[in-house]
Parts: sequence; structure tokens; C-alpha cells
Amino acid sequence: MKSETLKYYSTNLKSPEVTFQEALLRGLAPDGGLYMPVSFPLITFEELESFSDKNYYEIAFIVLNKIIGKEINKQDLLNLCLDAYNFDVPLEKVCYRKYIMRLDQGPTASFKDFAARMMSRLMQYYLALNNQHLTILTATSGDTGSAVANAFYGLKNINVIILFPDNEVTFMQRKQMTTLQNNIKVIAIDGKFDDCQRLVKKAFLDPSLSHINLSSANSINIGRLLPQSVYYFYAWSRLSERVDDKAVFSVPSGNFGNLMGGLIARKMGLPVKQFIISTNENDEVPEFLRTGNYKSISPSKNCISSAMNVGHPSNLARVVALYGGMMDETGIIIKAPDLNRMHEDLFAVSVTDEKTRLTIAEIYKQYNILIEPHGAIAWQGINEYFRFYKNYNSEKQLCISLETAHPAKFPEEIRQIINVDPILPPSLIGLAEKTESYFSLENDYERFKALILKYY
Ligand SMILES: *Cc1c(COP(=O)(O)O)cnc(C)c1O
Repeated sequence: MKSETLKYYSTNLKSPEVTFQEALLRGLAPDGGLYMPVSFPLITFEELESFSDKNYYEIAFIVLNKIIGKEINKQDLLNLCLDAYNFDVPLEKVCYRKYIMRLDQGPTASFKDFAARMMSRLMQYYLALNNQHLTILTATSGDTGSAVANAFYGLKNINVIILFPDNEVTFMQRKQMTTLQNNIKVIAIDGKFDDCQRLVKKAFLDPSLSHINLSSANSINIGRLLPQSVYYFYAWSRLSERVDDKAVFSVPSGNFGNLMGGLIARKMGLPVKQFIISTNENDEVPEFLRTGNYKSISPSKNCISSAMNVGHPSNLARVVALYGGMMDETGIIIKAPDLNRMHEDLFAVSVTDEKTRLTIAEIYKQYNILIEPHGAIAWQGINEYFRFYKNYNSEKQLCISLETAHPAKFPEEIRQIINVDPILPPSLIGLAEKTESYFSLENDYERFKALILKYY
């Protein structure tokens, strides 16, 4: 297929189709829906076979070039990929053909680096082409803020303002945001994560700020989703034995952006047998698959896998759309998806905190492998998968479990469970001593707005 302009539609179907560039810079569609590619270009068998000889950044280039098409110059895209993906993606063997893919070697030791680094570079690319400037506003409960701050740090044409709840992020998470400075402004709000999000939403709707080109960097942006399909191709290219060797991936899921990346990869031709959706006790999606009825969980439950404490996943509307249904932002199903097809492709499990801790202990004792709570939920998903599909050959099936953060980001939890101090990855060494700079603000819109006007 020759590259042509691929259009993006809104899951609410009430906005016009747009180019990749527009979808990227807008974030949310005007009708409140999420942008999705109208079609999925195929990676050919020859390309799939060639991946085993290619570096991560080269695979990223081939996959992204397919789906972005001629909206970007090829050489420029290759350079962006080379610049964004300058870290390892280890695949660690556990037993038989079961592996853990460690997506924790980026600058903030979280899988969110894969998406944030590419999205920020794509945004900067288009802004520079159009001679535009952008201000990113993001509320964070921890991991997103640090990945976004790091990814946008030092980029031209973009300022970033990040809000976090003063008492709800860990010391390390705060340090990852507040020690950068330059074009990254960080604000501690005397309130909860929801207060931060409310302030950001109000700013987006404020007519007196309409002269500022504001955008968001959360996981609803299509520019964050597409790069997350690449590591599925990468893992498969390193571990598959034949071009029709179908893998099972277990994805620890909160807002379902990671899973969407996998589903996109499959649509583009990646040989996947099934995806395991592994959630913590916020089990609204496993329940949805079981019963066909969707009920969000509010407030969401506080589990130790804190980045997955989501009671209504923001990307669920996209998953529903992929299976022929329609769901609005609030979670109301306007058209039911094809549940049978979902059951063929997806296996969903919910894992308790107690089981999460046991899994961390078991895999450490049995295989001397250290994982953190999110990755442990994914690994437990694989265990339950073979308990359910008793006739599947657990020794022959290629299985890849996604580890989405570095264990050193959860030192207290891990120490309590197995009495081990995780070794800091290079990206986190020395962070504790670095100088911080951030504002503290009461939960007050007018004061927040004054800061935006000062820093945009
Ligand atoms: C964000 C995050 C997740 C959840 O990913 P989604 O794309 O929201 O499903 C899982 N693990 C970690 C460590 C995260 O930071």
C-alpha cells in the first residue's frame, strides 16, 4: 500500500474527520469523542519478518510511518524515532516461552515514556512547521506528570504547566517533575487529584484564555496511543519462531491506552492469539466482558497498583468502537459492541492487592525475578489464563507479560513483601539530591489562571 493521507474520526461520530496532525494537536474531538484511525494499514509478512534484524527505533519508524502516512516527511520521522527511543527494552525469560517485557528503562522508569517522548516530538515537529506555539496543561496523580515533564523538557515552541495534588504524589514522583525547570512549570495544588483536573478543565473552557493555544497530554491523545503499538511488534520480533507464531500479551490496564496500542498493532497485522486484560480491584471492564453490562466504579478503589486505580477508563470508548459499538464519555453504551468477538480476542481478569503481593513474592522466590505491583498483576493474568483455558499448551504458547514501571519506584511496598531493596535504575540515581522548584497554590481558579497568563 502506498502511503496516503489516513483520516481520523471521532468515536462520538459528530465531528468531521481530520488529519493526523489535527487530531494530535487537538487531543479531544470537538464533539467530546476520541480520535481513531478510519482504517488500519497492514504491516506485510515481509516487513514482519524483517523486524528481527531491526532496532527498536527502526521498527517504530516503519509502524508509525504506515499509520501517519504522508502527513510527515520520512527522514524527519526516522530522526524523531531515533531521538525518542534511545533506551533498552529488555525481554526477560521467566520459564518455557513466557517472558516479561520491561518497559521501565526510559527517563522516568515508566512505560509512559514510550508514548510521551514520541507525542512531544511529533507535536514540536508540527508546531515548528506552522510556526505555532503551544501550552500543555496537564493534571497528574504522579506517573503521567513526570513522563510528560521529561518528554517535553527543553523542546522549543512548547510550554508545559503541570498540576499535582500536594499530598498525593510520592517524593520521587514530585522530584521527577520539579527538578527540570526551563519550559516545565509545576504547580502543587492544595487539594485532591480531582481538584487539579477540574482546574485544568475549566481553563480549557475559559473564553478569556482562548487566545492561548492550549492542549493536553493525557492518554486520550491519539499521539500517545500510536507509539504504544510499537513495543508489541518489537517483543514479537525478538521472540517469535515463525511469522505465524501468535503471541499472548498480558496488559496491566487502567485507562486502557496500553491495551489500545496492542489492539492497534493486531489490526495492523501483528500475530496475536489473545490479549489478557489484567486489572486491579477496579474490575469494571472484566465485569463488562462477563455480563455485557457496563458500570463504572466511583470513587475508584485505592489499590497498591496506584496507576491503575481507574473506575472509568478513558480509552474504553475506543475499545468499544473497535468492536463495532459506541460508548459516550460518561460510559453510556449507545450501540452494543460485538461481545462474542471481544471474548475471542480478550481475556479479562481482576487481581486483588493480596494476590498482587503474593505474585511478587512467588515470582521472586521461584525465578529470582523482581517485579512491581502493576507488572505483577499482568503476570498473574497469565497464570489465570492457563487455569481457565486448561486445554491450551502452557509450555508451547509464547506469552509476554508487560512490566510497566521499575520496581525501584515502589521501594516500601517491595521491601515489605520480600524484604529486598530494589536497585535504582540510572535514570533515578541522584534525583533525591537535585534542587526543586515549583509553586504552591490553593485550590483557586483565578490564581491558577493568573499563573497561566504569566507562563504561557
Ligand atoms: C499508566 C500506568 C498503567 C496503566 O496504563 P493504561 O494505559 O492507563 O491502561 C499501568 N502501569 C503503570 C506503571 C502506569 O504508569
